[in-house]
Amino acid sequence: MEITVVGAGVSGLTTGIRLLEEGWGVKIMTEDVSPNTVSDVAAAWWYPFLVEPIEKTNRWASETFDELLRLKNVEGVECITLRKGREYLDEICEPPGWSLGLPYFRILDEDEIVGEYKFGWEMEAPVIEMNSYMPWLLNKFKKLGGTLELQKFDSIKDVSGDLIVNCSGLGAREFCSDEKVIPVRGQVIYIKQDPGFGRFDQQPETLTYTIPRRDFTVLGGTAQKGDWDETVRHKDTEYILSKCEALWPELDRNKIIGVAVGLRPSRDELRLEKEIISNKIIIHNYGHGGAGVTLSWGCADEVVRLLKINT
Ligand SMILES: Cc1cc2nc3c(=O)[nH]c(=O)nc-3n(C[C@H](O)[C@H](O)[C@H](O)COP(=O)(O)OP(=O)(O)OC[C@H]3O[C@@H](n4cnc5c(N)ncnc54)[C@H](O)[C@@H]3O)c2cc1C
Repeated sequence: MEITVVGAGVSGLTTGIRLLEEGWGVKIMTEDVSPNTVSDVAAAWWYPFLVEPIEKTNRWASETFDELLRLKNVEGVECITLRKGREYLDEICEPPGWSLGLPYFRILDEDEIVGEYKFGWEMEAPVIEMNSYMPWLLNKFKKLGGTLELQKFDSIKDVSGDLIVNCSGLGAREFCSDEKVIPVRGQVIYIKQDPGFGRFDQQPETLTYTIPRRDFTVLGGTAQKGDWDETVRHKDTEYILSKCEALWPELDRNKIIGVAVGLRPSRDELRLEKEIISNKIIIHNYGHGGAGVTLSWGCADEVVRLLKINT
C-alpha cells in the first residue's frame, strides 16, 4: 500500500522514513526540498519551544530525544552532538515537565546566574546540524526505497491516493485552509566561535540563544508573530548580537559568517490527527512552531500509530 506524504521538511522526511521502516510504500510530494525548507534554518537544539499541547508534546519530545541519541550512538550519525546549555530565567520556578526524563539536568548555583537573571538550570541535549542532517534524512529515505516528486498543490483535494500524510508546515494555511497556522519569524546569525556551553533565555519576548555546533555557533533569536518577511533585517542582527553579548561577553563580531531567516509554522496546537475527506484518509502532522526537530521522531511514530489503527 502506498502512502503520499506532502512536504519534505524535517516532519515529512522523518515520517516518510518511519512509514518505510514499517513496510509501507512512500512517495513524498513537495514544493521544495532541502536546503529550501524552514527546517534547514532551524538552530537546532532539542528543546520544546513555542508548541502545544504540552501533555502530548512532552511525550513526543522525550521519544525524539531517545531516538536522536540512538542515531548518534548506535548509527553513528555525526551531525548530532550532545552539548551542555544553561537557561536563565527571571524568576524561580519548578523545572518543566520535559526535563524529568533528561539524563543530565541540574539547577544552577547562585554564582552561576548571569546579569539580572534570578534562576536557571543546566541541561545536556542534542544539537542537530541541519545543514548535514536534512541531506542525511533525504538520503536515508531514498535508500529505504522512498520516492520524491516536486509538486506544489493548491489544495489537499488535488493530491491523488487514498492515504495522505500532511506535513506541509506553514503551507497548511493554504493547502488545507487552516488559518490557525501563522508564521513566527526567526532570524539567526552564524559565527565561527564556540561559547563552550550553550546559553539561553527561552522567553519569547526576550528570546536569546547561542547553540554551538562542531564548526560554528548559531545565535538567536527573534520570535515575531504574524511577520512574513523572509529577508535579513540589519536591526534584528544588531538586536540579536546585543542580547547574545549580554550572555556571552567574549562574542567576537569579526567571526560572523552568515545570517538567515525562517518562518516557524506556529499554531495554537500542533495538529496531529486523522481526517477523512472524500473517502481519503488524511493524517495531519503540522504546526510544530519552534520545536519541529525536537518533536520529529515522536510525531512520526504517532502518525504510524494512527495509520495502523485506520488501515
Ligand atoms: C530561526 C529558527 C530556529 C529554530 N530553532 C529550532 C530548534 O532549535 N529546535 C527545533 O526543534 N526547532 C526549531 N525551529 C523550528 C523548526 O524549524 C520547525 O518547527 C520545523 O522546521 C517544521 O518542520 P516541517 O517539516 O513541519 O515544516 P517545513 O520545514 O516548513 O516543511 C514543509 C514542507 O512542506 C512543503 N509544502 C508546503 N506547502 C506545500 C504545498 N501546498 N504543496 C506541496 N508542498 C508543500 C514545503 O515545500 C516543505 O518541503 C526553528 C525555526 C526557526 C525559523
